[in-house]
Amino acid sequence: MKGMTGAHSSSANPQHGLTDRLARWAKGLSGKGDDPHAEEAHRPRAGAASNREINRRRQLYTDIGDFLFAHDLDLTPINFSVALDYLTGANIGVEKAIRAVMMERGRITNGWMESLAADQRADEVTPESLASMLDKVEENLDQFTGLMHESRNSAKDYGAALQEQAKDLAGGGDSEPVLARLVGLTRSMVEKTRQVETQLRENQKQTQALKSSLESARRAAEHDHLTGLPNRRAFETVLRDELALAQAEQESLSVAFCDIDHFKVINDTHGHDTGDRVLKFIAGLLAKVSDDRCHVARHGGEEFVMLFRGKTAAETCEAVDGVREDLASRSLVNRTNGERMDRVSFSAGVANVLAYEDPRAALKAADRALYLAKEHGRNRVYLAAETD
Ligand code: GH3
Ligand code: MG
Ligand code: MG
Repeated sequence: MKGMTGAHSSSANPQHGLTDRLARWAKGLSGKGDDPHAEEAHRPRAGAASNREINRRRQLYTDIGDFLFAHDLDLTPINFSVALDYLTGANIGVEKAIRAVMMERGRITNGWMESLAADQRADEVTPESLASMLDKVEENLDQFTGLMHESRNSAKDYGAALQEQAKDLAGGGDSEPVLARLVGLTRSMVEKTRQVETQLRENQKQTQALKSSLESARRAAEHDHLTGLPNRRAFETVLRDELALAQAEQESLSVAFCDIDHFKVINDTHGHDTGDRVLKFIAGLLAKVSDDRCHVARHGGEEFVMLFRGKTAAETCEAVDGVREDLASRSLVNRTNGERMDRVSFSAGVANVLAYEDPRAALKAADRALYLAKEHGRNRVYLAAETD
């Protein structure tokens, strides 16, 4: 299989020693890194676990301080929180953005940190709150629909009972004027009931229409509008569900990060619209592989993520490599001017989700393998070493 190799176990980021410290810190968290005996010797009265925790926290404070100092950043809550996300690896988006800006410019500024934090807020909070709002509105609408249904039925019953009574009374002899009034009143009540009934029916129709537009809004919130693929947020839910299924059924579960090679050059050479069409085309190729056990999503920008249940990481590498080969062997044409484009390809990193402490760690391992695939020449699929 062309272009497939086992990746090394570390990302070998030349930018700073902090990443290595972070890796040690994170390993310590998973219980793989620290030597508990050494810690016990220092603090004999505390448990080894709490000692480890204290040391880790102390190290983290130091790392955050070093990071902010090294980049000449102010000690603000925003800077602190972004540095925390970066150093603990709690947010892969933050980690990637910082890595990219350091590669590009070599330094980070206070303003850049603020805009990154704002992006993260926009990215994370809004879809979550939107989803919970949609859930609530839907729930309310369901209750409202039920209520309307109920009251329409009782209005009908009431109308029928009144009509019945009016019939009986109208049959009597002497109290005709009273009865006539009663009959009149009853008729108007029946009429009113009919009006309410019509109104309720109209309301119910509107509710149904609102409900279906909410469903479309929910779909839009979970799908990328350019490619039509599920977005990162939707993928996170799929990942949680598929993980539970794989664990219950004792099946393999593997994840792949695919990133288009030199996509910026494609945009710069052929224009953004052609870039968009290339994105859609590649999304389509990846989507062709998907089924109820293979999920594809646009993770962001020119990056896609795939999840395979029932395939080992090696089998996943093969499947993704098949798509890579298919794409690389094509000769795409720029529709706007008929010119042939240079070879379009993507690189990918694959990881076995079940080999890591949590799916986030597996995603990071796949991302590191992708980074190596890029470093080693692109247009290749790398498998993350499970010691990552
Ligand atoms: P590499 O091989 O290292 O991945 O290089 P690259 O050029 O693909 O990566 P880089 O991160 O430098 O650039 C990604 C580009 O993708 C930059 C951004 O403008 C472009 N991009 C992201 N989203 C879209 C989109 O929706 N449409 C288009 N046309 N371009 C996009
Ligand atoms: Mg990218
Ligand atoms: Mg790229």
